[in-house]
Amino acid sequence: MRIEEDLKLDFKDVLIRPKRSTLTSRSEADLAREFSFRHSGGKYRGIPIIAANMDTVGTFEMARALAGHRLATALHKHYDESRLVEFFKALPAEATVFYSMGITDADYAKFLRVKAAAGDAIAHVCVDVANGYTKSFVDFIRTLRKAFPQVTIMAGNVVTGEMTEELIMLGVDIVKVGIGGGSVCTTRKVAGVGYPQLSAVIECGDAAHGLGGLICSDGGCASPGDLSKAFGGGADFVMLGGMFAGHDECAGEGEDHPDGRKVRFYGMSSRAAMDKYAGGVASHRAAEGKEVLLDHRGPVEGTVQEILGGVRSACTYVGARKLKELSKRTTFIRVARQLNEVFGA
Ligand code: 5GP
Repeated sequence: MRIEEDLKLDFKDVLIRPKRSTLTSRSEADLAREFSFRHSGGKYRGIPIIAANMDTVGTFEMARALAGHRLATALHKHYDESRLVEFFKALPAEATVFYSMGITDADYAKFLRVKAAAGDAIAHVCVDVANGYTKSFVDFIRTLRKAFPQVTIMAGNVVTGEMTEELIMLGVDIVKVGIGGGSVCTTRKVAGVGYPQLSAVIECGDAAHGLGGLICSDGGCASPGDLSKAFGGGADFVMLGGMFAGHDECAGEGEDHPDGRKVRFYGMSSRAAMDKYAGGVASHRAAEGKEVLLDHRGPVEGTVQEILGGVRSACTYVGARKLKELSKRTTFIRVARQLNEVFGA
């Protein structure tokens, strides 16, 4: 047994220090980024925010709506093959949509069929496992990279520099970072495993950038300020589940309640998800996600504006004309309290 004594931080533990700036208006802050992916050689041009590959959030409707704002989407993995092929073939060239999969033989076989039918329309994939530290995950990435040298691979999740480096060396373009921080995730409670998200981003970002790779901060953003902190800490992309949940573009029936219309949202390892897709929770495991009822939030466009407005504001406060400059201009200060909650959180 060993105890690591270094301080590890979450978004709630810090604020971004303002700096002298020549920007006069938020509209001067440009949130688009351009990346060249290390392995695939592909390019990303757009705002580096990605809707999570959860079955309520990573929908075709969400992908189309977000593409209109130059944001990306990771589709969930439960669509059937013909609908996926049809969707990707109709996708405008400038939209970035990730095909998501797990690492089972069935996942790979399905991907091979969909990719063969959709061709170059599938340029980005997201390989998603709860625990990115297993040998089977590493072997899967090696096979996938060898078979598809030109496909951009995002994969995870991990939270440490050494595993980030290993994945990038193996062929991953974007390492997905985050364990236990998600809004409907209960891994920290059930398994006692996790890592404070801001420190994970800082450490994995450093490791990835040293090798010409990129990272995506996944999970734990509860407000636009958290995205600014993730980008400020070195995240190249930020993935959002809960913040995009509850909108018109999400899947799932709404329910009428005495206090308004509600929408169900649940973790992909929750009992609700396993009942739906795996015939229940297997006897050897526990659910690691929960289900919540959210207020219905209307079209996602309003939320997108709010998020982008918040990140632009952070850029303005530190004098970053482009999102790319935000991390260079970020100084975090540790705080004991960040919000005034006199009138609620
Ligand atoms: P959020 O933006 O809602 O805070 O976090 C979204 C992320 O939570 C997802 O992208 C995924 O990595 C993670 N996640 C989704 N469902 C589950 C779950 O059931 N269990 C765990 N441990 N993580 C989940």
